[in-house]
Amino acid sequence: MQKYNIQFYLLHLLDMNINLIKYYMKTMLKKSLFLAFALLFACTLSAKKPIKTLIITGQNNHNWQVSHLVIKDILENSGLFTVDFAISPEKGKDMTNFLVDFSPYSLVILDYNGDAWPAETMQRFEKFAQKGGGIVVYHAANNSFPKWAEYNKICGLGGWEGRNEKSGPYAYWLKGELHKDYSPGRGGSHGPQHEYMMNGRATNHPIINGLPNRWVHAKDELYDRMRGPADIADLFYTAYSDTAKAGSGREEPLIFTVKYGKSRIFHTMLGHCGPSYENNPAMQCTGFQVMLLRGAEWAATGKVTQKVPKDFPSSTYVTYRYDYKEPAEN
Ligand SMILES: [Zn+2]
Repeated sequence: MQKYNIQFYLLHLLDMNINLIKYYMKTMLKKSLFLAFALLFACTLSAKKPIKTLIITGQNNHNWQVSHLVIKDILENSGLFTVDFAISPEKGKDMTNFLVDFSPYSLVILDYNGDAWPAETMQRFEKFAQKGGGIVVYHAANNSFPKWAEYNKICGLGGWEGRNEKSGPYAYWLKGELHKDYSPGRGGSHGPQHEYMMNGRATNHPIINGLPNRWVHAKDELYDRMRGPADIADLFYTAYSDTAKAGSGREEPLIFTVKYGKSRIFHTMLGHCGPSYENNPAMQCTGFQVMLLRGAEWAATGKVTQKVPKDFPSSTYVTYRYDYKEPAEN
């Protein structure tokens, strides 16, 4: 009888221990599951946090009234950005109160070509760039401010508004590298708009990884003979500026990044704005939109989380996103 009691007692003890172990394991499992979910949630939150973006516009020899809305839609339709505007007074009006606060933003998009900003805004912009802010230089923004040295360093290359050899060299693709040409002459020109081939020049960068090396861009201006400090970091695409189309006969750098302080600068010369939101082929080109989205994300964060879209143009045809949205079936 005694023996059975001990046995029973031992069994009971064992049972209790197993239950304790089970309980302990359950609690641990619950805790680690909770931790895993918390981590996942935190990651999702940070991935979903949109990039705060400011578009500066209000004066341009281009249709800024449409382009700034289009850029906003391209960015916001991706779900990655939220966009505010800084709209300057009209050309020739008093600019004194155009004081732009860049500090809340990770990304500034330049869609401005006009009168000088107040000194305070210029200084704030330089500080934003030097401290590592993300910047996108879009199309005719590189025409602006020919005498503002820091602005021209930020753009890398610019054109028109009296630019010449004093503004810096010409830069174009020659014999497998970006060639700088210091010969005198005007900076900035383009022939009539046409479709043209984009030729890839970089092999490894988050902005272009996975994209085709050659793709056809929709009807657009092809900026050529641009001049500037030309401190180009990564040259992504050039295009041949055909003399038969009043071009330079050179492979012109059109999409690239610029070295400047700690900032990340993405420069696209594409995207001449059409007459309306609906009739705007250069900006409706999928290639333009995808490059803008990838360049903008990289400029703001140093990364590109977007996958390579199925509707990207190829070396034989242009594709369009007429409504500035990635198609659902992509
Ligand atoms: Zn233009």
